[in-house]
Amino acid sequence: MIEVEQLTKVYRVPIREPGIVGSVTSLWRREYKEVRAVDAIDFSVAAGERVGFLGPNGAGKTTTLKMLTGLLHPSAGSCRVAGWKPQDRQRDFLRTITLVMGQKQQLIWDLPAIETFALNKALFDIPSKQYAETLSELTKLLSLQEFLHQPVRNLSLGQRMRCELAAALLHRPKVLFLDEPTIGMDVEVQAIVRQFIIEYNQRYEATIMLTSHDMADVARMVRRVILIDRGVVRYDGSLEGLSREFGSGRTLVVRGNGPVLDRLGFSLMEDDKRRLTISPDRVNEVLGDILRELPQVELTVVDPPLDDVLRRAFGEKRE
Ligand code: ADP
Ligand code: MG
Repeated sequence: MIEVEQLTKVYRVPIREPGIVGSVTSLWRREYKEVRAVDAIDFSVAAGERVGFLGPNGAGKTTTLKMLTGLLHPSAGSCRVAGWKPQDRQRDFLRTITLVMGQKQQLIWDLPAIETFALNKALFDIPSKQYAETLSELTKLLSLQEFLHQPVRNLSLGQRMRCELAAALLHRPKVLFLDEPTIGMDVEVQAIVRQFIIEYNQRYEATIMLTSHDMADVARMVRRVILIDRGVVRYDGSLEGLSREFGSGRTLVVRGNGPVLDRLGFSLMEDDKRRLTISPDRVNEVLGDILRELPQVELTVVDPPLDDVLRRAFGEKRE
């Protein structure tokens, strides 16, 4: 359904010398530098798959989705979505896909969401019967009933995002590109949106590619992840394989306090537990250190949490 070959995007950005002199000289002497946002990536996604596209900020996720939806032309390489060349932006292609960006909105601020929906019905030529059906399904799945008729500006962020999703899905696209769909939401709304994404995928056998910089978030929605870092694909496979490949450590979880924990570099978790991920061959030594000073402490050894795995995958220094 999605085929990507050696896909590359290089941005040309003007270099400005700092200060006022810089901004004047740059008027006639423009110099550019090249940013390789996406660097010859390959992957393919089968129809009906749910794939997480994961990477730290600036990794190239949004740029890739923009190429896959035809908003940006590739600098090199190629991509195909449902048989179409996205950059041609053909009408039937646009009817097949949707792009939802967590930080951008298409709903009209001063009008109720239902008005934007009606606009999209016209825009996509959705037959009335199908529109009514889809709207009622989406309203149920996303619990939109109480606020569908209120001006968008009066909605909470979570309510607005649910309406955004509905607006983006009224034409029942077969391929969904979701860019950080749960960003900035509180946990309950995140859970609703995640559940909804899974249901939409199953009900319509839609292909879904969603980005996130949050491993735990993605882990709840997909089984396959593609990891991108600095424009390069670092991993493509199952979530379990990811832990195997990058997460060869063990995590000690301790409830308690003591200087030994600070010395070893334990970090504080919620509910006054502390944790530390170390390589397996150090477990006995570290347990010994702790128990010598804190013989009564409550201690468990578990697999490392996914965000630790991710940090390891992207290098320790970078968050
Ligand atoms: P992500 O979505 O993973 O955070 P982006 O695709 O937004 O990453 O950005 C990838 C890289 O490309 C970053 O270094 C970013 O600064 C750069 N970039 C993104 N958009 C532009 C643009 N319009 N012009 C120049 N550079 C850009
Ligand atoms: Mg982005």
